[in-house]
Amino acid sequence: MKDLSSIVESQRAKFRQNFKQAAFDIQSLADSIKPDGVLEDIFTEFPAASEGKKWQREFLDILENKVSKDIYLKFQEVLAERKGYSCTGCATCCNLACSEFSPLELQKRADSGDNFARQFLSIFVPYKDKQEARKVYPEYIKLLEENKEDEVYFYHCPKLTEDKRCSDYENRPQICRDFPDNPLCILPSSCGFCGWREKAEDTTLLLHAMIEVVEYYKEKISVNL
Ligand code: SF4
Ligand code: SF4
Repeated sequence: MKDLSSIVESQRAKFRQNFKQAAFDIQSLADSIKPDGVLEDIFTEFPAASEGKKWQREFLDILENKVSKDIYLKFQEVLAERKGYSCTGCATCCNLACSEFSPLELQKRADSGDNFARQFLSIFVPYKDKQEARKVYPEYIKLLEENKEDEVYFYHCPKLTEDKRCSDYENRPQICRDFPDNPLCILPSSCGFCGWREKAEDTTLLLHAMIEVVEYYKEKISVNL
């Protein structure tokens, strides 16, 4: 079993590789429909009604209606594979939740309508200090300390009993039922979804890379339309 640092390092390396491949593939797609006689690149500010402008519109249409849809469908396949795995009840995710926001910041976000912040605060309460959180999952806290530049705040759920059971299991909130909702989540080795992560990680990294590249092209081209 790999340790957390090597899992994260390997994810980063794979993402970089996938990002380069995705950038190459999207650019090749743009080039493949480039009209004869257009010499400029896809980000150029073309005159209205020009061949270049038509090219940009056609390309954006492909990104929106073909590439993005394919990415979405592939994500649905990845999520469907999650059904083959289940929670082993190790309780780590109940006992240690992290946020880049302090309790006060989360409250402000919740008050201004942020649904995730609202749900998060309805479940978790902050740890007294980082040392308390460290006792739950030392390897994870160490990893965050080594890699995270911004402050991270640690929380836990008071509904977890001493024997690591949810005291309101039947009514547990949706975000508890959905965790982990992405194979790239950092999971303890005790988590029953590690097998899903291992199986789906490569595909998910590629899809994430594709999304970033597609969004970049859409944003840059739209500016000139
Ligand atoms: S409500 Fe239950 S399942 Fe959700 S975090 Fe708390 S103890 Fe865990
Ligand atoms: S970390 Fe994984 S196995 Fe452990 S309680 Fe959470 S979902 Fe279940």
